[in-house]
Amino acid sequence: MDFLRPTTWDEALAAKADRPDAVPIQGGTDVMVEINMDVRRPAALLDLNQVAELREWTAVGDMCRVGAAVPYARIIEELAGPLPGLAQAARTVGSPQIRNRGSVGGNLGAASPAGDSHPPLLAAGAMVEVESRERGVRMIPADEFYLGVKRSALEPDELIRAVHVRPATGPQYFSKVGTRNAMVIAVCSFAIALHPGERRVGTGIGSAAPTPRRALEAEELLARELDWTAPLDPALTRRFGELCAAAAAPIDDVRGKAAYRVHAIGVMACRTLAWAWNDHLGKRAA
Ligand SMILES: Cc1cc2nc3c(=O)[nH]c(=O)nc-3n(C[C@H](O)[C@H](O)[C@H](O)COP(=O)(O)OP(=O)(O)OC[C@H]3O[C@@H](n4cnc5c(N)ncnc54)[C@H](O)[C@@H]3O)c2cc1C
Repeated sequence: MDFLRPTTWDEALAAKADRPDAVPIQGGTDVMVEINMDVRRPAALLDLNQVAELREWTAVGDMCRVGAAVPYARIIEELAGPLPGLAQAARTVGSPQIRNRGSVGGNLGAASPAGDSHPPLLAAGAMVEVESRERGVRMIPADEFYLGVKRSALEPDELIRAVHVRPATGPQYFSKVGTRNAMVIAVCSFAIALHPGERRVGTGIGSAAPTPRRALEAEELLARELDWTAPLDPALTRRFGELCAAAAAPIDDVRGKAAYRVHAIGVMACRTLAWAWNDHLGKRAA
């Protein structure tokens, strides 16, 4: 197995262009498990750990640009204010060791339907910055990034450079069902983000369809019918939950039954909307 170790972003892009079969490795919390378990034996590994810029986050205009390698631990410590949904999801990932190594870039690269960063990225309307040596930068909306189970819009010669997320302008919540409280891959998960300026609510469903996905009809319902100054209408909340559940398309597997996942998505949708709405009204009153 070849081991490629670029020290700059340009070197990394060149290495990926010359060796599209090289598997990028960042924290290695997915890649090393697969190699150790003999799930795959790549001809080459492309170690991105020397590319320092991938570990930086910056404010760019009205967006937060989070380098692909910023680990979950730093998202929790440094970005919980501007990106509360992503930080909540990060808190539920694995264990302290996994959160020190694992990154959102790696979660996107793996593109597992159960990845915890996906629902909050969808709800917030994030963009994924990818780049190749030949074609330069592409900005891919999160809801166009996931193509199938562990398949993404990333081309073989492209690398993920960063994810761009607008700092929250309203409450955001992430909720995850697992078989225990830590070190657990989601049975299913749900994220919500209120965008009061646009009178819009974003959603993200995890581990309940072949890809992470938004509940579009549920979002449209709230865009049409939500009164942003009034207490939440219980009938509207119920309808929102039903439409979120209907947007899920899960399977039965070792972690849970499809019927349970559909039910749980509906429950989490109602709960997170209520939590977010309480914060929203509390802020208005304050
Ligand atoms: C014990 C354990 C518990 C876990 N718990 C959770 C959990 O609760 N929730 C969860 O979502 N995940 C969990 N995971 C999975 C894993 O930690 C996450 O998916 C993590 O985000 C992967 O990040 P990484 O930097 O380690 O990625 P890596 O393992 O380095 O890479 C993952 C994938 O992304 C690709 N990749 C990495 N960087 C780039 C890049 N810049 N450009 C293109 N492709 C790239 C790699 O080639 C690979 O396909 C767990 C893993 C373990 C071992």
